[in-house]
Amino acid sequence: MSSQNPVFIPGPTNIPDRLRLAMQVQTQDHRAPDFVKTFAPVLEDTKKVFETTAGSIVTFPASGTGGWEAAVTNTLSPGDKVLVARYGMFSHRWIDLCQRHGLDVQVIECPWGTGAPADKFEQALAADSGREIKAVLVTHNETATGVLSDIGAVRAAMNAAGHPALLMVDAVSSLASMPFHFDAWGVDIAVSGSQKGFMLATGMAILAVSPKALAAMDTAKLPRTFFDFRDMMAANASGGFPYTPPLQLIYGMRESLRMLFEEGLDNVYARHHRLAEGVRRAVGAWGLKLVAQSPDLYSDSVSAIYVPDGFDSNILTDHAYDAYGVSFGVGLGEMNGKAFRIGHLGSLTETMVLSGLATIEMAMADLDYPITLGSGVAAAQDYYRKTRPDAARAQAA
Ligand SMILES: *Cc1c(COP(=O)(O)O)cnc(C)c1O
Repeated sequence: MSSQNPVFIPGPTNIPDRLRLAMQVQTQDHRAPDFVKTFAPVLEDTKKVFETTAGSIVTFPASGTGGWEAAVTNTLSPGDKVLVARYGMFSHRWIDLCQRHGLDVQVIECPWGTGAPADKFEQALAADSGREIKAVLVTHNETATGVLSDIGAVRAAMNAAGHPALLMVDAVSSLASMPFHFDAWGVDIAVSGSQKGFMLATGMAILAVSPKALAAMDTAKLPRTFFDFRDMMAANASGGFPYTPPLQLIYGMRESLRMLFEEGLDNVYARHHRLAEGVRRAVGAWGLKLVAQSPDLYSDSVSAIYVPDGFDSNILTDHAYDAYGVSFGVGLGEMNGKAFRIGHLGSLTETMVLSGLATIEMAMADLDYPITLGSGVAAAQDYYRKTRPDAARAQAA
C-alpha cells in the first residue's frame, strides 16, 4: 500500500511534512532553561485557538480520552450528577467513562444524526431545583455521525434555567477546524487532542479550563494524580512539567500553531467549510444521504454517509482499503454496517478531497452501488471551481 495516499478517516489526520519535520527533534533535558522558551508560548498561543483569555491551557501526554478523564476527575466527586445527551459513539463513550467513575449520569437519549438538544437540557436543568446537576457534558462535533452541535444554544439553555452547572465540551474533532468560542460560550472545560485539527501525531490531550472549573477542584473528590490540573499548572508556571513531557509533540504543536496562524484561523475554517461542502455535493450527486439530519447540523470536519439499503458499509470500506489502499471511516456503533465516513479535516486540499471522492466512487462502482461513476467528483469539482478562493480575491480587488 502506498504511504503517499492520504487517509480519509476523521483522525488521526494527515501529518503535513512541515509538522513531521518539526517533530524530528533529539532528546532534550526538560529541566534545562530552553524548555521553558519552547513550551510557554505554545500554551499562550493555544488560547487563541480556543478563543479564551480567561481560561488556562492544560496538556497531558494522552489521547483525547485522557482529556475526558481529566475534565471529570478534576471537577467532580463520586455520586455527582451530570447531564449528557447520547447521539453517537463519542458521546456514548464519554457517558461510559463517567459511569465507570461512579458519577450519576442523567442521559438524554437522542436519535443518532441529531445533536445536543438545548431545549431538553433546559427542561432538565429547570427541573433540577436542588441544583444536583454539577456538569453538562456536550460533544461539539459527534465524529460518529458528522453532526455539529450548537454550544451557544446549550449555554443559552443553561442561562435560561439559571443553572450553575459546569459546561464541559468535547472539541476533539472540531477544534482548529471549525470555530470555537470558549469565552463567548461560557465553556468551563473544552477537551481536544493533537491528532485531529492540529495535524500532529496522537499523544497530547489539550484542554482549556475556566477559573470556575479550577475552583471546583477545591471540593472535587474523584481521585487524580497523572491528570491533576493544579500539579500541571504549577509545574508549567515555573517552566517545567510534573513528569516527562512529550517533547516531540510540543515542538510539533509550536509549528502547528504557526501554520494555523499563517493561514489565519478564519481561512482555516473557511477551507474546511468549502472542502466539506464539496463532499456534500458529491453525496447528493450519488443520491446518498448524510446521517446528519439537517443542514444546520452538518459538520465541516467529517461526513457520515448512509449506504443504500441492502449494502454493507464495512464491505465498502474494506474494499476501498484492499483494492485502492485508502482508508475511510467505518460506521461506529449504531452506524456499523449502515454508514461510512469521509474525514475531511486537518491538512487537506481540494486535490486530496477529489482523490478520496474518486476512490470511494470506484469502490462503490466495483460493488455495484447504484451510482454513476464520476458524478460525485464532478459535483465537487464544479463547486470547487465556482468557489475558488483566488477568484473571490480577484473579484474583491
Ligand atoms: C477522536 C475523538 C475523541 C478522542 O479519541 P482518542 O482516540 O482518545 O484521541 C473524543 N471525542 C471525539 C468527538 C473524537 O472525535
